[in-house]
Amino acid sequence: MTFDSFLTTDIKFLKGVGPERATALANELNIRTFSDLLNHFPFRYVDRTKFYKIKEINPDMPFVQFKGKIVNAEIVGADKSKRLLAEINDETGNVELIWFKGIKWVAPKLKPNTEFIVFGKPTSFNGKINIAHPEIELASEENILIAKKLQPIYNTGEKLKSRWLDSKGIWKLQRTLVAQINKNIPETLSQEILKKHNLISREDAYKQIHLPDNHEMLKQATLRLKFDELFFLQLRLLQVKGIRKKTYSGFIFDKVGNYFNDFYNNHLPFQLTGAQKRVLKEIRQDMGTGKQMNRLLQGDVGSGKTIVALMSILIALDNGFQTCIMAPTEILANQHFKNLSKLLEKTNISVELLTGSTKQSERNSIHEKLQNGELKILVGTHALIEDEVQFFNLGLAVIDEQHKFGVAQRSKLWKKGISVPHVLVMTATPIPRTLAMTLYGDLDISVIDELPPGRTPIKTVHRYYAKHPQVFQFIKEQIQKGQQVYVVYPIIEESKHMDYKNLEEGFELIKKNFPEFKLGMVHGRMKPKLKDEQMKLFAAGETKILVATTVIEVGVDVPNATLMVIESAERFGLSQLHQLRGRVGRGAEESFCILMTDYKISSDARTRMETMVRTTDGFEIAETDLRLRGPGDMTGTQQSGILDFKIADISKDAQLLQYTRGIAEELLKTDPEISSSENVPILFELNRIKKAKPYWGRIS
Ligand code: ADP
Ligand code: MG
Repeated sequence: MTFDSFLTTDIKFLKGVGPERATALANELNIRTFSDLLNHFPFRYVDRTKFYKIKEINPDMPFVQFKGKIVNAEIVGADKSKRLLAEINDETGNVELIWFKGIKWVAPKLKPNTEFIVFGKPTSFNGKINIAHPEIELASEENILIAKKLQPIYNTGEKLKSRWLDSKGIWKLQRTLVAQINKNIPETLSQEILKKHNLISREDAYKQIHLPDNHEMLKQATLRLKFDELFFLQLRLLQVKGIRKKTYSGFIFDKVGNYFNDFYNNHLPFQLTGAQKRVLKEIRQDMGTGKQMNRLLQGDVGSGKTIVALMSILIALDNGFQTCIMAPTEILANQHFKNLSKLLEKTNISVELLTGSTKQSERNSIHEKLQNGELKILVGTHALIEDEVQFFNLGLAVIDEQHKFGVAQRSKLWKKGISVPHVLVMTATPIPRTLAMTLYGDLDISVIDELPPGRTPIKTVHRYYAKHPQVFQFIKEQIQKGQQVYVVYPIIEESKHMDYKNLEEGFELIKKNFPEFKLGMVHGRMKPKLKDEQMKLFAAGETKILVATTVIEVGVDVPNATLMVIESAERFGLSQLHQLRGRVGRGAEESFCILMTDYKISSDARTRMETMVRTTDGFEIAETDLRLRGPGDMTGTQQSGILDFKIADISKDAQLLQYTRGIAEELLKTDPEISSSENVPILFELNRIKKAKPYWGRIS
């Protein structure tokens, strides 16, 4: 039998399956072939490697296994108090077994003077050790061998269970199959990698994952299978990245000239942080080499990404190219425009803004100045990617808040230039490194992991609704000190109606409590113009309290706002809470965030509150978020299917991910086409994966 025909054999041909169980396996577990079954991994193991002597057993032990002979078995009581009692002993003592249910199945099995294997939870009753509803099996040689294993536990389904395919039944199938894999599983790694990294063969890994000889072998098998998943993913992503780098050569920005130097020497309003300098250097190197830059710039809210973007832009200008910044919302685009204009105020560099609300006459003039190359920096929203927007020579595109833009939109930007521009993607939603490496595995990553000096960390507390009076008092004090306050309400699609009602009621309540202050309100149902007006009033300090939904999540910058109260905080995700909190703490004054919830919240919600109170580090928060929600819920990962790991767990296997990436990089360095005879197994597996998961290459 060849590899392929073994692994792709229809599951119904496995001994013990047949057509009916095969249908149930397909329907409930998506298992159709031998390969599918082998890749249905246990989710945990029960350690039954040890047989105890009866005298060693005490009621504090969780589960025990021992061998013994039935001395006596009888059914006592009647009706509801009917039970089966059996006394079993070995040479060191005896134990009582007891059944209240299933008596008519068990009783006939309990032959006297026959040795059994017993597994169950010991308890103490009337000074005697006793085990209720133990698992019990004849102590045949075969059963002893099996019993002494680490026993895998599998997911299964209701229909399967009714066809005797509970976890134990699945295990039995696995054992039947494992007994048949005699050199039928192809090796997917090279001998060199196997040796160098001390990995067991893929075939052994499958055998050991389902039927481990011992703890050590189980560890080896798990490692090997995770290794494969992560290694091939990284290899694929790096390959895509390599192909793109080869296909698109980038503009070479090798000059640092007047624009940059003048700004750096005369107009930079502060000293760059170490992290900003480092990141800027990475960007400069990227753009200077002739490669096309595709870089993800991660940095927490307030870490100072704007200045890095601007200085990258100045390098592009020094090399004679145009640039643009694209933001996901009009508010954000406005903010960028305002910031850049201010920073560049004393230079002769012009910046223009293009959004949906730009007037036609202005639009025309912008189009013209873009096409003749006069305009060097264009800031805008999606309006930038409309067809009539044509650049003279777009050299660098900065994209803010990447996840709000689709892949298609990004590639549309590429088509604007004479060649593909350098791309710098900025995100303030920290993505754990592991996830970033996977999701954006074909992008290079820079991280600003240091805040500008002089910031006082935001103080965060969690309060129950009963504390509303005190919270209102605190709001009052802040405003009397001259500060401003956000009060945030959740609005989610599923309960929109109720949520809006709560928002309105909240607004009324605050109005009643603070008749002396001017209030504002913003939410998603408002006309953009009205929303803008409200934002402006708040930014100008005219309104003191802004009642809002998450529309204020990104980019709004009002340094005078020092307090954020988040109502029903348990209904927000961690990343969202973090993002919201970033709206305060932007000025010199100490800032506060109060998370309001009911007394009764889920334990996950409590962890979220505790995390927010404990730390302001976006990356730590993102790691916790990943752990709580799992990768499936993280931004953009659902559609890509890229995180459908069978055995690896991105939130736990970060180190292995990093390690396999290194090995994949090394491989591509020494054998870029993966064409050496040594690496044939790798090429084979890679091609198989490409066929099975073609979308991998298209995620960014
Ligand atoms: P974000 O990364 O959230 O976009 P910004 O670029 O808006 O952050 O910067 C936040 C604030 O910090 C801005 O007011 C900016 O002027 C200021 N800032 C940025 N870098 C520094 C620095 N190195 N030293 C002092 N202030 C800085
Ligand atoms: Mg910003």
